[in-house]
Amino acid sequence: MGRSFADIPAQLDKLAQRSMYRRRKVIESRQGRELIIDGRRLLNFCSNDYLGLAGDKRVAEAFKAGADRWGVGSGASHLVCGHTSAHHELEEALAAFTGRPRALFFSSGYAANLGVINALVGSRDRVYEDRLNHASLLDGGWISRAQFGWYEHCDATDLQQQLQAGASDDCRQLVVSDGVFSMDGDICPLEDLSAVTSGHNAWLMIDDAHGFGVLGNRGQGLVDPARFGVNDVPVLMATLGKALGTSGAFVAGDEDLIEFLIQRARNYIYTTALPAAVAVATLKSLEIVAEEDWRRSHLEQLIQRFRSGAEQQGLNLLPSETAIQPVIIGEAAQTVAVSQALETRGFLITAIRPPTVPQGTARLRITLTAAHTEADIDMLLQVLAEVLDDVAATGTDD
Ligand code: PMP
Repeated sequence: MGRSFADIPAQLDKLAQRSMYRRRKVIESRQGRELIIDGRRLLNFCSNDYLGLAGDKRVAEAFKAGADRWGVGSGASHLVCGHTSAHHELEEALAAFTGRPRALFFSSGYAANLGVINALVGSRDRVYEDRLNHASLLDGGWISRAQFGWYEHCDATDLQQQLQAGASDDCRQLVVSDGVFSMDGDICPLEDLSAVTSGHNAWLMIDDAHGFGVLGNRGQGLVDPARFGVNDVPVLMATLGKALGTSGAFVAGDEDLIEFLIQRARNYIYTTALPAAVAVATLKSLEIVAEEDWRRSHLEQLIQRFRSGAEQQGLNLLPSETAIQPVIIGEAAQTVAVSQALETRGFLITAIRPPTVPQGTARLRITLTAAHTEADIDMLLQVLAEVLDDVAATGTDD
């Protein structure tokens, strides 16, 4: 039988059989250390709310004040009549904070990545991506129709060889990498990537979604403005829905880059601006991020505590020093079983399965936040040990 829409139910069945069917959980509380699901309180170890600001009262108050001042809807895209002075002020604050001349506020990180890559490269150009880049960076590269090259994970030498091979070609070359890898938690070799790209007249784009707010002086991110100027990392992108606890994303760079994106980034041009209240709330959050260093130092302590405990227990960790601490389980079915057993005991940690991660590397993506306590980490370690022992003892039918 030919391919048709009638195949959809069969495809859904197949996903379920392979333990790849995804289901959403309905959350009944605000974001924070605990979440309520089906009336049950669960300790939350899977959000990207690294600094515990998504439910912060001051940010919520700013959001309310923003809604009082601006209403809810922005009315139109930025280029028509949706770009308010609140949006503008946020862009100026983000540019100053990242040490870049300009910043451009996008409605999401996914949109920003698609918009930027597609504005910068097209069918006559090349894009090089780390094998483990986030889906939005990969989608951006594929949709651009630029010649697509993978380089080995965090391997600047492999990248250099590929750039070298195309050195004489007359095209734009864009190198794209996660700053902190979203599913592994490790950090890209920024200095090497920057040296290799500038040596080959290519541009480097870093997606600092998981570093912005958490890493660096005052949370300025992985791309420390004191060490990496616009020439070293011409395209800096970061999201606001993670450590900043609000929503949206931005791209920071020089004057021409931002003006060019305003003219050419379709995901910027053809979409309604986020509500101005989001910009007002994000300005408040940015202020808190810069001032409250204790959030980063507390998080750092929790990361150390988790890693040393997990190492003692022999958990299958990845070499990550960030708040993303995955525990590799292997097969999807087993990972889902572990995640469900954790939930039964009051811990929310989602199973991350292919195609989000490579086959055979399904994992618990544990994320730590400044809202956790040391006792939370100890409980997590204890429960992980129990659950992993149980699963090892009973096995699964996968
Ligand atoms: N880049 C990375 C590295 C991400 O992890 C994510 C979201 N998980 C995005 C981009 C997309 O950002 P947003 O959620 O704002 O669309």
